[in-house]
Amino acid sequence: MTRIRTLTLTVAALAASLVAVPAQAAETPPRTGFEESGGARWTSQPEEQRLLAAVDRASDRVSVARIGTTKQDRPVQLVRIGERPAQNKVLLICSQHGDEPSGRDACLSTIRDLAYAKDRQTRRFLERTTLLVVPTANPDGRAANTRGNSDGVDINRDHLALQTAEGRAMAAVIRDQRPDVIYDLHEYGATPPYYDKDLFDLWPRNLNTDDAVHDAAQTLSESYVRPAAADAGHSTGTYGIWTDPETGEPIKQVAGDGQERILRNMSGVKHSVGLLIESRVDPLTEAEQADEALNNRRRVNSQLAALDGLFDFTDARRGQVETATGLARLTGYTDTGPVYVGGADNDPAEPAEVIQDPPCGYRLTDDQYAQVKDELALHGVRSHGTYVPLRQSLRALVPLLLDERAPYHLTAAEPDTGC
Ligand SMILES: [Zn+2]
Repeated sequence: MTRIRTLTLTVAALAASLVAVPAQAAETPPRTGFEESGGARWTSQPEEQRLLAAVDRASDRVSVARIGTTKQDRPVQLVRIGERPAQNKVLLICSQHGDEPSGRDACLSTIRDLAYAKDRQTRRFLERTTLLVVPTANPDGRAANTRGNSDGVDINRDHLALQTAEGRAMAAVIRDQRPDVIYDLHEYGATPPYYDKDLFDLWPRNLNTDDAVHDAAQTLSESYVRPAAADAGHSTGTYGIWTDPETGEPIKQVAGDGQERILRNMSGVKHSVGLLIESRVDPLTEAEQADEALNNRRRVNSQLAALDGLFDFTDARRGQVETATGLARLTGYTDTGPVYVGGADNDPAEPAEVIQDPPCGYRLTDDQYAQVKDELALHGVRSHGTYVPLRQSLRALVPLLLDERAPYHLTAAEPDTGC
């Protein structure tokens, strides 16, 4: 896909030089505010709306829908790009943290590039994969340049409780679209010399993630995203792990655990191949130190290089990924194994963090049910009246929501062990 993007941008640059010719105007791919300014500033929200409207109008393969509305009345939007309805779906969640803007700008230019691409390879890609993009997952936070939304809530800790409009909008998309891949774009602050790569990534560490889905997410990281970034000259590593600058050996873990309320982990619990990607905010060189636009362009370009790896993975592993996610969505109907309420793939669960012999379901009181029924529905968890069985696609999610042993449970419902 690297070549596709380069070609498209060349066409875009040519077209941009011809804007004075009216006949060309309708065909001219719009540019982001970030591109217009050479990276001196991030694309504004009015510019984003103009770009999405232009792309929606100009391209048959693109549609833009409002999937939610924030407290400050900004739209949360979903962009769909595809030549036809495809079984294979890849979801990009861009800048859940409003003060981490590079992922959002990478997403906006990617939407534009794919919308206007005319080459056979991209068309073939979009015939077999539908790309779904939430370009600004936290519009109020982006407007204020804050991590949280306008209530100060970290949206990326709300994927279980679903108390925010933003979290609810994303949950509904995941429920309705069942993406094969969920790719979550962020940024981080470096701590040299232990934690300072251009890009870090991380797969779902939650122990309820299906093995084949977990393997696919690690493959996406290790065999596609990191090599693509390296080919473009960016260093990479594992999110949350400090390493010895001499040996590269891990020293300690500062982030990236298995908690289910984080999108990266909830992706695994919901049987999607999840990947978190984090670009380095801090200037990398003296030249970047002296030129903020150069620094910003490196942040966005590293995200674009990583996205090329994602698209190559999607193309090369489409069948394998669909098989993994498809089977994982079925195992909940027959599985009788443990459910994990703690631990991670690099941190074995304590005995108290394992429900060894899970109940067949949970009985809720009328009050409990009234309190959580909207959230169950947004997750796509089935219930029979006030009874929630484990025998369903999202089997492990049921105790995570309803068992008092789960750290973020919504309510402590009564386990039904009579099966
Ligand atoms: Zn973040």
